[in-house]
Amino acid sequence: MANEELYLGSHVSMSSPDFYLGSVKEALSYGANTFMFYTGAPQNSYRLPLEKLKIDEARALLKANNIDESKIVVHAPYIINISNQLNESLFDISKSSLIRELQRTQAFGPKILVVHPGAHVGTGVENGLASLIRGLDEVLEQDGTDVKIALETMAGKGTEMGTSFEQFAHVLSKIKHPERVGICLDTCHISDDGMDINNFDEILKSFDEIIGLDKLLCVHINDSKNPVGTHKDRHENIGYGEIGFEALNHVVHHPLLKGIPMELETPYINGNPPYKKEIEMLRNSKFEDWRE
Ligand code: FE
Ligand code: FE
Ligand code: ZN
Repeated sequence: MANEELYLGSHVSMSSPDFYLGSVKEALSYGANTFMFYTGAPQNSYRLPLEKLKIDEARALLKANNIDESKIVVHAPYIINISNQLNESLFDISKSSLIRELQRTQAFGPKILVVHPGAHVGTGVENGLASLIRGLDEVLEQDGTDVKIALETMAGKGTEMGTSFEQFAHVLSKIKHPERVGICLDTCHISDDGMDINNFDEILKSFDEIIGLDKLLCVHINDSKNPVGTHKDRHENIGYGEIGFEALNHVVHHPLLKGIPMELETPYINGNPPYKKEIEMLRNSKFEDWRE
């Protein structure tokens, strides 16, 4: 491996019959040294009991392959929304599923849970932020784990929160347990928010000034189907979108991001995952026109 501090992997599935053991095997088949998974379906919060998920076998395989568990990332289900408390019962359901995801993450072994900040659903950004702060305080008071929440930068579709570094800085300055919360930077999403990844050094500089680089817990590496500032959230394969290979490769190999887990969430091609090829290209800093 050329760069030993590069942790590059992708989203992997976790499904019957091998569950977490299958996730680890899938990541290894891509040549990855990190990966990201959901502890159940991304779209809902129905969850199988942990005993069924082959966690012990998976962890043994991780160990045998020298994969550092602290570089593995879990993603919470999309339906969690703690940025809107107009409907108290929905707010409560979001909080309890977030608590459960933190506990499940701990049981699998990783220490980072990516969470979408949610949407203010018409109540306005101010109310959204207040709700997010209250939600995080209540969740982190009750979960009893030391797993960190990585709030993801979002593309700004509809009334999505988490569209500027200032919003995250505000939340971090107000919550009771800022040591338990950090940020997941998604290259497609911040491009959609109006940040040009060609100027990534400047983006990182402002991230450091506004939030602090020590708060960056993971990075999602995605190209975008749409130009800068379009708020669409449509991921594209590496090198085939509007961001382009050079800009994304610069992010992956950035000296200030050494050691931070990076995960691809790019689309499948004809039912096949693109990750082995994309990981190889980014590791070697060399684009190949491989897609049909
Ligand atoms: Fe996400
Ligand atoms: Fe993402
Ligand atoms: Zn996205």
